[in-house]
Amino acid sequence: MKIENVEVIGVVGAGTMGHGIAQTCTQAGYAVRLIDVDRNILEKALTLIREGPFGLMKLVEKGKLNPDQVEEIMNRIKTTTDYNEFCGNVDVVIEAVPEDSELKKKILSSLDEKCPEKSVLASNTSGIMVTELAAAVKRKDRFVGMHWFNPPSAMPLIEVVRGSLTSDETFNIVIELSKKLGKTPIEAKDGPGFYTTRFITAYLFEAIRLYEAEVAPITDIDEMTKLAFRHPMGPFELMDLIGLDTMLHIGEYIYSVTWEPQFRPPLSLRKLVLSGYIGDSRFKPGSRGGWRDYFKVVKA
Ligand code: NAD
Repeated sequence: MKIENVEVIGVVGAGTMGHGIAQTCTQAGYAVRLIDVDRNILEKALTLIREGPFGLMKLVEKGKLNPDQVEEIMNRIKTTTDYNEFCGNVDVVIEAVPEDSELKKKILSSLDEKCPEKSVLASNTSGIMVTELAAAVKRKDRFVGMHWFNPPSAMPLIEVVRGSLTSDETFNIVIELSKKLGKTPIEAKDGPGFYTTRFITAYLFEAIRLYEAEVAPITDIDEMTKLAFRHPMGPFELMDLIGLDTMLHIGEYIYSVTWEPQFRPPLSLRKLVLSGYIGDSRFKPGSRGGWRDYFKVVKA
């Protein structure tokens, strides 16, 4: 397949990343199919695409879109909970289900069976090795890592990762597609956490360890990071946006493969996730909140 033949993009999982990836693809003019397990999640995703903090109405407020264009963009997205309907005529599928290798493999294997032979399957995994996920599909040459950043509509990088059997054709389609979506694609070699996730996980976990060592409370660590390094968000704010369950899964995976101590998830992160604090509840349905919400009820 060539990039000119890509017309329909399928996005699997309509959570924090999936809804933003779907938004970016439809904004670039592609027809989008978006699937999740539950109709309510899909409805919430459509609301976030239209009216969320990074949604289309924000662009109307800034004068970058008009209301008619918003309707056109929204009309290009079709949602479903049915894999047979979803897979019908997709050219590229971007999988964005939770960072759990067994779950991803199960879903990828079923996509491999149901999607047209020519389709490219891409995973938005944060750091599960692409070669490991490729074990679940027969089309190993048409399987690739396409790692987006949060929020997908705003962040410019896409980290593109080949598995050991990814073809040049597939790799090039994802590079060209990323450019058409207005992003800058950069290749990282396959390995746990690729480049960006290894880098950011070591930094975020160090912030938690410094809090645990009582160097400073979480609000001061966030403030110091912003003032000292001009980061737009502190590490605890960033973790709330990423999702604390996602951070825990990422740490567990990278640590299980590398055994490098900086990736071992800190105990307080595990406590928050176990007690239902999995991040910003605007993006994480059912979450009791993030770091700041937890410490309103548990003494910091
Ligand atoms: P999330 O938990 O917010 O969303 C995952 C969605 O997948 C949920 O809506 C869930 O209902 C859905 N899902 C579960 N099983 C499904 C199935 N069988 N079929 C269809 N949908 C199903 O997670 P997220 O933060 O969007 O992360 C998704 C992926 O993107 C993960 O691999 C994560 O590591 C990666 N990622 C996350 C971020 C981030 O900042 N959150 C950034 C880059 C990459």
